[in-house]
Amino acid sequence: NFSVPLPHTSEDELGDLAKSIKLLATDLNYLKKERSQFLASISHELRTPLTYIKGYADIVKKRNLSKEEQGKYLSIIVEESDRLAKLIKELFELAKIDQNTFIIEKELINLNEFFTKMDQKFSPIFHENEMKFTINCQPNLLLKADSLRLEQIFMNLLDNAMKYSNRGSTVSLTAWKQKKEIYISIKDNGKGIPEEDLPYIFHRFYRVDKSRTRSLGGTGLGLAIIKELILAHGGDIQVRSKENVGTTFELIFKEDQN
Ligand code: ADP
Repeated sequence: NFSVPLPHTSEDELGDLAKSIKLLATDLNYLKKERSQFLASISHELRTPLTYIKGYADIVKKRNLSKEEQGKYLSIIVEESDRLAKLIKELFELAKIDQNTFIIEKELINLNEFFTKMDQKFSPIFHENEMKFTINCQPNLLLKADSLRLEQIFMNLLDNAMKYSNRGSTVSLTAWKQKKEIYISIKDNGKGIPEEDLPYIFHRFYRVDKSRTRSLGGTGLGLAIIKELILAHGGDIQVRSKENVGTTFELIFKEDQN
């Protein structure tokens, strides 16, 4: 969001106008650079799974492999195809967000009921990973939001909390009202995020540990997308983290947002 102040009353109107145009040009240059960096990241991220797919398909086609080897390579091909599909889906989502062509259909959501449903969906997965999931939601919390988008936001945050935590750890979701704002926090006691990475984690394609998150199926787009979704709801998201201690994401919504 760039805004160039145009002076209304000035002694040197032409000089001021020239300064404003120069500022605008700097902003446009910045946007151009950002766009070309984004395009470079997209082509890199798309090329990587394709390289694996082509490479392993060639091996399966040309070499005389044992059944076991063949199975292993075909699994990689399937995994990388899934990854490519996920990337394309997320990029399409971001394009819709950027063009303002995605629709948010708000309804009044009872957060207690909403989180009970999330608990039913997620508890078995946490259990399978030997982790605990706790929910503590103040009664009668109502939020005007798009329920599918809200589900997408929490699925993403819970998935991350699980991905970046060890077995035996606990993820807790807490929701409460303070003045006219609704706060929802998701706290894990996982590996945490180094301080120097914190300012960037909502940036597109940003990953703290590229090779590790790649093996966990991460694309680096999840947080960028959910931040846009939260902003589109008139809310905001913040993060606090300490390495090897854990991470807390806190969402803030206005209670009576339209
Ligand atoms: P990814 O698909 O790689 O998980 P995200 O946009 O969801 O992408 O997250 C960006 C980066 O932020 C991740 O690669 C990871 O390094 C870091 N991150 C996100 N959530 C957590 C968390 N709960 N604990 C530790 N690191 C996290």
